[in-house]
Amino acid sequence: MADSRRMIENSKLMQAVTDRRDDLIALTQDLIRMPTLNPPGLNYREICEYLDIRLRKSGFETELIRAHGTPGDSDKYPRWNIVARRSGTRPGDCVHFNSHTDVVEVGHGWTKDPFGGELSDGKIYGRGACDMKGGLAASIIAAEAFLATYPDFAGAIEISGTADEESGGYGGVAYLAEHGYFDPARVQHVIIPEPLNKDRVCLGHRGGWWAEIETFGEIAHGSMPFLGDCAVRHMGAVLNAFEETLYPAMAARHTDMPVVPEGARSSTMNINSIHGGQPEQDDDYTGLPAHCVPDSCRIVIDRRFLAEENIDDVRGEVRALLDGLKANRDRFDYDLREMNVVLPSMTDRDAPVVQVIAAEIEKVLGKPAEFVASPGTYDQKHIDRIGKLKNCIAYGPGILELAHKPDEYIGVEDMIDSAKVMAGALVKILT
Ligand SMILES: [Zn+2]
Repeated sequence: MADSRRMIENSKLMQAVTDRRDDLIALTQDLIRMPTLNPPGLNYREICEYLDIRLRKSGFETELIRAHGTPGDSDKYPRWNIVARRSGTRPGDCVHFNSHTDVVEVGHGWTKDPFGGELSDGKIYGRGACDMKGGLAASIIAAEAFLATYPDFAGAIEISGTADEESGGYGGVAYLAEHGYFDPARVQHVIIPEPLNKDRVCLGHRGGWWAEIETFGEIAHGSMPFLGDCAVRHMGAVLNAFEETLYPAMAARHTDMPVVPEGARSSTMNINSIHGGQPEQDDDYTGLPAHCVPDSCRIVIDRRFLAEENIDDVRGEVRALLDGLKANRDRFDYDLREMNVVLPSMTDRDAPVVQVIAAEIEKVLGKPAEFVASPGTYDQKHIDRIGKLKNCIAYGPGILELAHKPDEYIGVEDMIDSAKVMAGALVKILT
């Protein structure tokens, strides 16, 4: 009897999600139409107020929290976040859905209005559609469908909309974690609806190390370079050492983390930028350059590392190359300034939230879930390191490769399927 009652309730829940299709579309469009560009961090207050009205209507208690003093926060560009909580009728676990509200710059190549939220052929277009306003909308619909079907539940549901994920999350999840919002005594399960595809559970991400390297020289007349010392040539030696030693070493390292795409299962390093010699002039400058030997050259490196690697070794091998040049190359000197470090994060495959979401994926989509890890970092790092909460995954609709691209979109069917998975997970954990 209990089993057949469960089955009827489950089909009611799935129907409750499907019935909210128009609402889901409108909600996603509304969110896309607020251009929450980061940088500089536009319209954070507006999107939080919008979510505030929406979630209070659904019975949530809400808090708007400004991350005072975090990078980028100012009265002109305040870092606003919202945390909404709806408690059940008795004690139990809390399931928290965390979405970032910021989007990256538009870039070139769009054929759709990036903030129009156009619906065409079952897809909603716009900057942030898949990364990750579609995921935010799906989690809200999942929670509302669950609340309508199971008014009597244990524990609590939380939904947060947070700032600045695209620039490190310091004015968003990191700030909330520092202020106890991800304390394991308050929250037990975290789902981040990033666009990892509706049939995948994302367990975590690789680490990242960002640093600026500067080589030095001595300025002189360009016609007599032997009277100076060329910092760009010294940097050339650095890049050469990277090519000969570091890149082959990194390519030979492989991780057991299920990182997608496949190429990111090795260590990688991008060289973000290079600047040497006199600064570039404005476009309207029509003069010729002066003739100087450059006395400084700088690069920014973006080194992504694996759970099997140690951050001290990652730093150490770059330093060793630079020190080797210093010992062997005439007049070589350098400075290395570390800009940021993020350690790898991996949730255990047996963790409760992983198991529950995987089982719901199989139920809704009729095939086993795929377990993946992300090549880049996302807000799980703060929930793990600052919040000390390990039971955290990314799961949400959308195609990862569309993130940050022109004509970014989210499929309506994908949002509905993933909302069903999220709603089903609420049933498993809270009833
Ligand atoms: Zn994202």
